[in-house]
Amino acid sequence: MAIRKFDNLNRRNALVLSATAVMGILYPLVGRTDDGDDNGGGSTSQSGAGGQPIALATTGIRANVVVVGGGMAGASVAKYLRLWGGSGVNVTLVEPDDAYVSNIMSNFVLTSVRSLSSLSYTWDQLATAYGVVRKKARLQSINSANRQVVLSDGSVLSYDRLVVAPGVDFENAYGLTAQDYDTRTPHAWRAGLQTTLLQQQLAAAVNGDTYVMTIPVAPYRCPPGPYERACLVADYLTTRKGPNCRVLILDENPKIQAEAVNFGRAFGVIHAGVVNYQSGVTGIAIDPVTKVVTYTDKSGLSQTVQARVVNPIPPHRASGSGAGGWMAAAGLNNSADGRWAKVNPLSYESTAVAGVHVIGDAAQCGLPKAGHVGNQEAKICADAIVRLLSGQSPDSAPVANSACYSPITATTASWLTAVYQYDPVTQTMKVAANGGVTAGAAPTEAAAITSGNFKQMGTWFNTLMGDTYT
Ligand SMILES: Cc1cc2nc3c(=O)[nH]c(=O)nc-3n(C[C@H](O)[C@H](O)[C@H](O)COP(=O)(O)OP(=O)(O)OC[C@H]3O[C@@H](n4cnc5c(N)ncnc54)[C@H](O)[C@@H]3O)c2cc1C
Repeated sequence: MAIRKFDNLNRRNALVLSATAVMGILYPLVGRTDDGDDNGGGSTSQSGAGGQPIALATTGIRANVVVVGGGMAGASVAKYLRLWGGSGVNVTLVEPDDAYVSNIMSNFVLTSVRSLSSLSYTWDQLATAYGVVRKKARLQSINSANRQVVLSDGSVLSYDRLVVAPGVDFENAYGLTAQDYDTRTPHAWRAGLQTTLLQQQLAAAVNGDTYVMTIPVAPYRCPPGPYERACLVADYLTTRKGPNCRVLILDENPKIQAEAVNFGRAFGVIHAGVVNYQSGVTGIAIDPVTKVVTYTDKSGLSQTVQARVVNPIPPHRASGSGAGGWMAAAGLNNSADGRWAKVNPLSYESTAVAGVHVIGDAAQCGLPKAGHVGNQEAKICADAIVRLLSGQSPDSAPVANSACYSPITATTASWLTAVYQYDPVTQTMKVAANGGVTAGAAPTEAAAITSGNFKQMGTWFNTLMGDTYT
């Protein structure tokens, strides 16, 4: 991507560049069908740039950009800032972990189909191929007046632009503590040790056992994710443990939040008699020791169920936005409920703090919280930062797409996709249809649940992760 495009940017070039940037990930989705990989093949052995340094353009831009968080959004923005900003844009990626474990596909770890290590990615290629400087530390505070960040190792980094992509924190809910999530009732909504614990609990289940899952009020990370998990667990328990296993979904939302037709069919037909989907549930209380769950159903009746495995997905919020958190201290969590960072979707710059951009699940701008979306937001953000550093304005009409595959059984899947466009009236991203923002337009879901979709899922996942980490 030649940076010259940014030097003499006219509106047409801007749109082409932006569309190329944000839509690039879509091409393999629509252009390829089956690469023979049945459910995705992410691994730490990555291809793409092949580990060789890429010759970056000389753009004339000289700037320091600090990126916080090396997940789906942060890794993507670090790579594209170097690619599009050129060799004069120094990018430092601050991330405390040794590797990133993908949440996407992690429901297959629960059913013992995949390992966590097969979903692990490092930042090595971002360093060797693109020259991203990796700093193994945690962000502790932001001094936006001085444009500096303080890290957990005591170092201080100065920035011209700061991008934060820290993901989410989980709240203690339903009478549970963080220790309960870690040791007894895992949410496993961030892939890692809790995923392994939940997998072990499911592996120990026997015929006749009940698995109970809770879903928090939206917005939450990955709208179709909980329903996908319920389907895979139902498939696993009934095929591996016996036909009398049951899956109870306690949804605090009034209805299924994504792919309502296909998940409705999955619950009512494919997993009929196994999955019990309850919407509009309130007052959930969980005993982490006895695994007794009580709740009030939508007709107002109090219910009690004895579970073998409890998988509460608690309410979450932008990481660091809770009381005493670094995001709260910086004043970035300015959504109405204080949980998310409101951003200008043209640049992902915070609407509260100048020079700080927020992308991924932590941001609020009208887009769903998903890894594919985080990758898209990263590209719009990188493009905008390069333009801003060049003295230009961000693209005024960004477009983003979202695609998500949802396994329904061990061999079949559905999918969901949408194109989003900037709506200048609400200054948010909205679902587009027929060439523009259209009132009432909604994401499109697969016409059927098929094995072909399941195979395409592997191509989609590998393409997305390759674009993000290599
Ligand atoms: C079970 C499950 C299935 C999913 N399936 C899909 C799917 O099919 N498709 C899809 O698009 N999305 C899916 N998602 C959602 C997707 O995983 C998230 O939306 C995505 O990971 C968000 O990216 P992010 O970069 O905002 O956060 P993350 O990917 O969580 O990355 C955040 C990073 O920031 C780092 N960090 C946090 N705090 C600090 C700090 N103070 N200093 C430095 N670094 C910090 C963390 O260590 C982490 O590496 C799924 C999620 C789950 C749980």
